[in-house]
Amino acid sequence: MKAEIISIGTELLLGEITDTNAPFLAAELPALGIDLYWVSQVGDNQARLAKALKRAWQRSDLILTTGGLGPTADDITREAIAEVMGEKLKGDPALERDLREFFTRFGREMPLTNLKQTNLIPSAQAIPNPNGTAPGWWVERDERIIVAMPGPPREMQSMWRETVLPRLRQKAGGTVIVSRILKTFGLSEALVAERVSAQLSSANPTLGVYAKTDGIHLRLAAKADSREEAEAMITRVEPHLRQAFAEHIWGTDSDALEAVVGRQLAKEKLSLAVMESYTGGLLAASLSGCPEAAPHFKGGLVTVSDEARVACGVDYRLIAEHGGESPEAAPAMAEAARSRLGAAIGLGITGVDEVDAAAAKTSGVYHIGVVTGREQRLASGRYPGSRLRVRRWAVAAALFELWKVLAD
Ligand code: ATP
Ligand code: MG
Repeated sequence: MKAEIISIGTELLLGEITDTNAPFLAAELPALGIDLYWVSQVGDNQARLAKALKRAWQRSDLILTTGGLGPTADDITREAIAEVMGEKLKGDPALERDLREFFTRFGREMPLTNLKQTNLIPSAQAIPNPNGTAPGWWVERDERIIVAMPGPPREMQSMWRETVLPRLRQKAGGTVIVSRILKTFGLSEALVAERVSAQLSSANPTLGVYAKTDGIHLRLAAKADSREEAEAMITRVEPHLRQAFAEHIWGTDSDALEAVVGRQLAKEKLSLAVMESYTGGLLAASLSGCPEAAPHFKGGLVTVSDEARVACGVDYRLIAEHGGESPEAAPAMAEAARSRLGAAIGLGITGVDEVDAAAAKTSGVYHIGVVTGREQRLASGRYPGSRLRVRRWAVAAALFELWKVLAD
């Protein structure tokens, strides 16, 4: 099955909102064994949408659209589909009854403009919308399918999960793609690729290597006639990869570093405090914003100057001798955070993020200190790129060091 996604909305073309619906749907299709060939964005204009739909009808078996199902005049998805199919719109009494009930439940009168949401064409079936007023459309004719879903991501996703996905699963039958992502940190993309060079040319399961903000990901994808078969293929290959990267694999699939670390802290009943310099609170933000980590996170101190570091408990003599951005400072910052905030573990990040030519030799350098009651560790590294990339990488490196300490 060849699929195509059309995101509808002038806001998308004006750059006012970012299209998150298409990436969501794109990520869902491989598991169904459906190949996605095209993604496009169209404004709220019936003629242009009809053109896009016509083209899609000629080249794709499955067309997924989002947006333009609302009650206002600029919501033209239904009208455009009717035009392309050459079919007439007609109000559906059952849909009208449901819609009127929906408004009654909220004690409101239904505006007449909403009536257009009850329209159907002969080839369309309504798809229930548990989170809104606009039903979706399932259109099927000439061995082609158009699925029209609402724009608001919450409405679109629940409609997808509850109705569209199960139906497509039935239709697609045949092949299924199952994937497993192994997330590593501490090796460069080139090194990772080198270690798996033999598997990289395997046709099924395929292996991909991707550089992400939290390290290098390995993605195994197996294609088979059933989910069980595809899972078995993954299970045969995965142990070899795990062996090749043992101490570097910190998580799988949708795991996030801070959540993985949070679960470790919970298991060991340990609390954490951090002191960070150029990451400016990024580490504290990722820990406090993560439901798994937040309960074990005592707090973070942001010390971008030597004065701040000393005021927060770092020995001024150490700073005077080595400097606040030195390897020596990182464990001292970790220890200061640990004792000031009364935590079991302290984590410190310092270094130089400056990305100007003069500082080129030392820029992108991070020093990470981890201090527990029993041990003290220092890890240093370098990462090229923009300031934001360097900062994000330093945060990932710090969480990875903590993960290693907790894993031991
Ligand atoms: P409504 O009944 O809310 O008008 P609709 O189906 O007509 O729904 P649109 O009017 O196209 O959808 O979009 C409504 C809102 O949904 C947008 O303002 C935006 O917040 C969100 N939205 C629409 N399309 C997308 C998209 N592709 N990605 C992310 N958000 C989107
Ligand atoms: Mg709308």
